[in-house]
Amino acid sequence: MMQNKKTWKLWENEKINEEETELLRRKSDEIPIPFNEEGKQDIQTLVECFLGRDDAVGLAAPQIGISKKIVVFKNKNFDEKSRVKNEKDYDVLVNPRITQIRGDKETTTEGCLSCPDVSVEVSRHTEIKVKAYDRHGNKINKRYTGFLARVVQHELDHLEGKLIIDHGGSIYIPKEKQKFFNNYFKE
Ligand SMILES: [Zn+2]
Repeated sequence: MMQNKKTWKLWENEKINEEETELLRRKSDEIPIPFNEEGKQDIQTLVECFLGRDDAVGLAAPQIGISKKIVVFKNKNFDEKSRVKNEKDYDVLVNPRITQIRGDKETTTEGCLSCPDVSVEVSRHTEIKVKAYDRHGNKINKRYTGFLARVVQHELDHLEGKLIIDHGGSIYIPKEKQKFFNNYFKE
């Protein structure tokens, strides 16, 4: 059965979500290796949430209120607003760790489901290597380049409680919500 958990957000409808902010800002916990039942369940929940929606390139466990080191993201067809079905079309990384950074940094605007209504210029590395466990608990080493490297860095930031608005880049806010956001970012 597809899970449909709400997405945790820093703010919504011009109101700050205190409780959700606290969890989104927390450094998340590692999943015990080998996976215990709770870890397996959390991985399953995140994957089902991700597969149940068509508006996310990636999703990190804190974004559904689970403060654990799990991320899931599409590894192809980023532009298509379609649900991912095939297990080969997305990656699950458990306890991921960036082991190597290469190439120049590239700056472009990003959005985040947990920071609705804004987009932010974020500078990211164009090539990274990651050590992690896959959804079955196997050790994996992955290399990501280009847009995919950006997606992975964005999702891994979530596990450290870091969000796009923390990168110091220009923040684009909608005119009609300027008052709320000017106030929010002043603090
Ligand atoms: Zn995000």
